[in-house]
Order: sequence, then structure tokens, then C-alpha cells
Amino acid sequence: VPYLKWQEILKSNPGKAAELNLPAGQFLTGLTQVPDHEFCFAMASAQQAKFGALSLSMVNHELPSGEEMKTFIHQYLRYLTAHEVGHTLGLRHNFRGSTMLSPEELNNTEITRNKGLVGSVMDYVPVNLAPEGIEQGDYFSTVVGPYDKWVIKYGYTPIDALTPQQELRTLRKIAAQGSEMGLSYATDEDTFDFIDPEAKVWDLSGDPLRYSQWQMENAKAIWKRLNNSYLLPEESAGDLRDRFDTVFSYFFDHAISLTGYIGGQTFNRNYTGGKTGTLPFEPIPVEKQRQALAMLGEYMFAEDTFNFSPQLLNQLAPSRWTHWGAFTTIFPLDYPIHDRVMLVQTIVLGDLFSSERLARLRDAQLKTSSGEALTMAELFDTVQDSIWKLDTKGKIEPISSLRRGLQRQYMSLLVNMALRNSNSLETARTFPEFIIAIQTFNTPEDARVLARYKLRQLRDAIAKTLNKQGKNLDTASLAHLEGARDRITKVLDAPLQAE
Ligand SMILES: [Zn+2]
Repeated sequence: VPYLKWQEILKSNPGKAAELNLPAGQFLTGLTQVPDHEFCFAMASAQQAKFGALSLSMVNHELPSGEEMKTFIHQYLRYLTAHEVGHTLGLRHNFRGSTMLSPEELNNTEITRNKGLVGSVMDYVPVNLAPEGIEQGDYFSTVVGPYDKWVIKYGYTPIDALTPQQELRTLRKIAAQGSEMGLSYATDEDTFDFIDPEAKVWDLSGDPLRYSQWQMENAKAIWKRLNNSYLLPEESAGDLRDRFDTVFSYFFDHAISLTGYIGGQTFNRNYTGGKTGTLPFEPIPVEKQRQALAMLGEYMFAEDTFNFSPQLLNQLAPSRWTHWGAFTTIFPLDYPIHDRVMLVQTIVLGDLFSSERLARLRDAQLKTSSGEALTMAELFDTVQDSIWKLDTKGKIEPISSLRRGLQRQYMSLLVNMALRNSNSLETARTFPEFIIAIQTFNTPEDARVLARYKLRQLRDAIAKTLNKQGKNLDTASLAHLEGARDRITKVLDAPLQAE
């Protein structure tokens, strides 16, 4: 599993986790606390409720004791209870339950209060927050979905039969409805390898790409408000830091969900054979894959996403409130903004170029009609253009420190692939290095040579920029570009490690 495999490795190797100095605090839920199966919704569901409440308070100015907040909390508890009661009735998770409605229908309460906001309450559903300009509907489903009613009917309809065999006719008749709207199903085992970007936790609507875009915009809108906000007399700086990290996690969750589209496939369990109907595996249309990649460029790798005001950053002192479920931060006391941004960008980059995903892109060439698959080369080209765009014409701007960090991480990824740096798991000294090492382990050969090819191309582009614009550059940008050029030259000249 691209995204989760480093979590699993760290969980079974606490020594390595300690050595890598993992980020403290509530930043990135689940990073250091992998939820146990018994907890079901666990911390992540509370995180959704937390972001929802934050959005209500910051965007809609709802008071903690106000009617709307009460509605929000009641809907959350009602949904959570329905989910857990579902388990006691024998229902398993259905991670396709969230895909029943179109994004436009999500806030239409005439639909959601009759049919449901989701096809099944057995999904891990995120809070439903309307985008700016659309009137908010329900935050969580207030009724059970068509899938839930259907499986209860299957399991609990009294059938007048003397033997189990005699029940089959009636049961098959119910099961035959499986392809109907709102009844689609994907349970835990169907999601562990992240093959299907729409059978997953914390997504919503039949177009999760668009939903994620709405939510990243919602997160940015709260950041914007936080940028200009001052604490109220009854609030502490710890509250602000907590809010800032909550938004960071929320933004990250939606960004990482986009990577699944690249090389993704729909996995259908209701395949019944015959010439018509869907096959068990169907590639995600290439246009959708390109759309996800473009969104990552626009939100995760963009210059302006993580522009926070000094006023905000200087208010982010950790809380000293110690109680169950709270983490205390002792080091660093101030907010390590570069490290945080670089870490989330590295996780997304590593996931995008993980050896499993690259192998899937390779296979997709044989599993898709000619010209309809996203190629490995296109992935490298698009991401390189997005991160390393160098302008040789016009006036050159200084490269910002966050940008330089991202460019280096991307370069490290390519270097690790090109050099077959399989020892780097042991030698990794920082968490981002560890992620790059683990994701480039077993990279397919085609991707290794592509990485080499792209590095050479990058070196030539840097040389050209230095040649034309070098004298106009500030010292930090100049040092960065010269360093990058020299590093690539060294890599290209290095003897290749034999397999
Ligand atoms: Zn559950």
C-alpha cells in the first residue's frame, strides 16, 4: 500500500521511528497512532467532527452553544451510532457507500432526508461541507441508505422454508438487485491496496475529485481567516495551533486522496459474467487521471498554497493542557513550518511515484486500449513541469525557500530511482528521506531510466537558466541552482550499482 506501507514499517520498528524524529502533535492523524481495528471510526472520525465544528465557527460564525452547532453535533452522533449499530446487526463496512449522490445533490435536503446523503451508513463518511456559494444541507446523513435497507432485507426477511436450500430462491432474488443505484459495495479487503480511488474512506459523492477540490478550497478559506485572526481573550495560543494543524490534516487528507487516480482502476464486485455489464477491473479514464494530476499541481505543489502570515505563525505556541487524547509538544516550541510543508509534499510525491503505482502504470499499457492509458513518461513530465518550471525569458524571480525545498525533494526521488539506492532505508536520517527510500524500493526498470532521462533534461534546463539569467539571480537561488546542477552531474557520472 503506497501511503500506508511506511506507517506499517514504523509501527513494527519503533527504534527507526524514534531515530527519525517524527513530528509531534496532532499533525497528520494516524502518523504515529495507527488505529486499531476495534476502534472502527477511531480518531479520524473525531477529526472530521472537529474540522466541521471549526468551519461552522470560523466561516459561518456559529457559536458553540448555537442551534446550528447543536444540529451539527446531533447529526454526527446519529450517524456514528447508526454505523456502530449496523455492525451489531452483522453489517460490514461499505466504502463505496459515499458515492451515491452527485456533488450538486449533497446539499439538497429533499434528496438527502429521503434517500440518504450516502448509500450506506457503513462507510467512513467525512463531514459534508458545502462549497462557498452553495447553501449548506445536512452535515451527516440523518437516515440509513438504500444499501443498508437492502442488506437488512437479505439478512432478516422471514422466509417460509424448511431447509436452507429452499431459502435460496428468495435470497437470490434480493441479491440480484445488486447493480441498482445506491447499492454498490466495497469492503475493507477491497480498499487495502488503494487500487480503486472511489472505494475508499473519507471521500464523498459520485465525483470525489470535485468534492476534494471543494474541501481543499474550504481549508484554504479557513487558513485565510486564520492568517488575519487574533485570539479572543478566553482563547490560548494552543487553541490556534490546534486549529492550524486540524486544517493542515484536512487539506492533506484530500490532497493524498487524489494520488489514487493515477494508475487507478475501478474494482467491481457485482460482475455477473456475460458480454454486457462492467468487468471486475476497469481503468480510470485517462482524463480523470490527468485532472487529478493537475489538481495536485494546483494545490499541493503550487507556490502560494502555504503562504501564511508571520502574525499567524508567531502565534502558534503549543498547548500545555495535558489530558487523555492530547499530545504535548516540548520540541520544537515554535512552529517548524518548512519541515511541515516539506513533509506533506514529500508524502504526496512519494505516493505518486511509489514503485507499486509505477508498476500499475506499466501494466496499464497492456490493460487499456492503445493511447488511452496515462504513461509513466507523462507522469514524470507533468510533475517535473509543475515543480521545476524554469523561466529563461523575462525577468527571473527569486526561488522561494519552500519552492527550493520541494524541488530538492523531487530531485532526491529521481536520484534514488536512478542510482538504485536500495541501501537508503538504513541510511535515512530524516523522515522525508525515509519516505523517499521506501517508495523507491523496487522501482520498475522503465521508471529508473526515465528518472535518469529526466535528471539529464533538468540539468540542461538549469544550465541554460544559469547561463542566461545567472547574473540576475539572488544568491540563495543561484546557490540552489548551481547545487542542483552539480548534484545531478555527479549522479549521472556515478557508477551504477549492479542488481
Ligand atoms: Zn465500522
